[in-house]
Amino acid sequence: MRSTMMANPLLVSRLLEHGSTVHGRAHVSTWTGAGARRTTYAQVGADAARLAHALRDELGVTGDQRVATFMWNNAEHLTAYFAVPSMGAVLHTLNLRLFPEQLTYIANHAEDRVILVDETLVPLLAKALPSLKTVEHVVVNGSAAAVPAGPWQVHSWSELVAGRPAVYDWPELDEQDAAALCYTSGTTGNPKGVAYSHRSIWLHSMQVCTPESFGLSTHDTMLAIVPMFHAMSWGLPYACFMSGASLVLPDRFMAGAAIVPMITAERPTKAAAVPTIWTDLLANLDAAPADVSSMTEVIVGGSACPPALMHAFQERYGITIVHAWGMTETSPLGSVSRPPAGVDPWPYRYTQGRVPAGVAARIVGPLGDVVPSDGESVGELEVRGPWVTAGYLGEDRPDPEKFRDGWLRTGDVGTLSPEGFLTLTDRAKDVIKSGGEWISSVELENHLMAHPAVQEACVVGVPDDRWGERPFATVVLREGLSATAAELQEFLSSRVAKWQLPERWAFIPAVPKTSVGKFDKKQVRSSYAEGSLP
Ligand code: ADP
Repeated sequence: MRSTMMANPLLVSRLLEHGSTVHGRAHVSTWTGAGARRTTYAQVGADAARLAHALRDELGVTGDQRVATFMWNNAEHLTAYFAVPSMGAVLHTLNLRLFPEQLTYIANHAEDRVILVDETLVPLLAKALPSLKTVEHVVVNGSAAAVPAGPWQVHSWSELVAGRPAVYDWPELDEQDAAALCYTSGTTGNPKGVAYSHRSIWLHSMQVCTPESFGLSTHDTMLAIVPMFHAMSWGLPYACFMSGASLVLPDRFMAGAAIVPMITAERPTKAAAVPTIWTDLLANLDAAPADVSSMTEVIVGGSACPPALMHAFQERYGITIVHAWGMTETSPLGSVSRPPAGVDPWPYRYTQGRVPAGVAARIVGPLGDVVPSDGESVGELEVRGPWVTAGYLGEDRPDPEKFRDGWLRTGDVGTLSPEGFLTLTDRAKDVIKSGGEWISSVELENHLMAHPAVQEACVVGVPDDRWGERPFATVVLREGLSATAAELQEFLSSRVAKWQLPERWAFIPAVPKTSVGKFDKKQVRSSYAEGSLP
């Protein structure tokens, strides 16, 4: 029997209409460096309509053309997040921290027709622009004076939208059509495109809002530090429009020192970013205390969150760190760690959490066999669900390295407990294989970062004649504090097995970071580990 329910498609335009009317008073604050400029969700709705009219009537965007953004987290980027998918085109968020060659590959592969760019980023874009084969229009948020001449037309955003209608008759689209496009950072080979559908964005937003996930409501103000140019800012723009939570956007001011005044002025209740941002913020707060009491909890993911960081925020600032896991391929939110009721929450908080009802997870052993969810059997995490990609853009069939029988192979290694809590020990490519045993680089890092003198620690495997691989530890010391390799080894020796202790150490000024602020292990290996080997 078929249901009697309406088959209304789940569309981004519906999220826009809902947020800009029902939650029209919710606000977006964009940080300017010395304060914030504010607009409302109602205004974003009108601005999105104006932008859509301009894109269609002036720039010829009438179908599923790719409209790229090369922008920071700001109100204009938010407007594009809604206008472009709602009108039936595809939003392509370009990662502005990529090298020009990677950017060129991605923009050409996606066939970007229009690029919306922040004025401050024009010099960066200009480096790649001449090699972008399909770009016809560059629209600048700010002064367009610095855009080099070429076969593309240059427009000022404000002039382009001025005087256009504040309403738009959003088309009825197929919910499975592409709404937005992100590329993975491609640590091996070229970056791969993941195309999110209207439906996947909708369902993902619903789960982000739930109490077991980010728990967003009209009472919240979310500081979205996680870049809008990476993994859709964890879906926060859409989830905030769905729930009515207000948004604080840091624009280009993403470092810890800049975030402190943002928190004291805008008083967000929640925030989201990768662990390195929080480590940086903590160091800044400890050096110059500030009132961050508005924040009750922050979502940390993108790489494993060190337990010491969770304790420091909880004990010194009363802020709960909620650990989450995800990937570009999973929209990106895959799991969130909310401890069950009536238990000591800490052991649960350290884990990567549980997957929501929409996502199924399993652990697969080295021979391709599904291992039990007993909290002990280790293997590769595989997931599937309506906001998990089934393949990469432009590939004829799913790459068997990344997909197996309709499951996404995440490349992450860990266990699942009987209650569904996921504990990741490492990325498969970062696990240190020593004498037939596995050493978790993340576990060593977490222990090292619990040492009072250690600000950051990044551990990589290096080749070893006898053992195959051994851990190599790079350490950044806190300002004014000291520790020797012998002291750190001693500190570790009560926490991990003796054979796991790193013999090779380097004290470095800063851990190299990837384009999205994670430890760049490839770079650590080439800059520090390789040179240090006998
Ligand atoms: P990349 O880091 O390759 O640029 P993604 O942002 O898609 O691209 O990263 C996804 C990966 O980040 C996951 O496969 C996993 O290895 C890592 N990751 C994300 N969240 C966590 C977490 N909470 N703990 C450990 N690893 C995480």
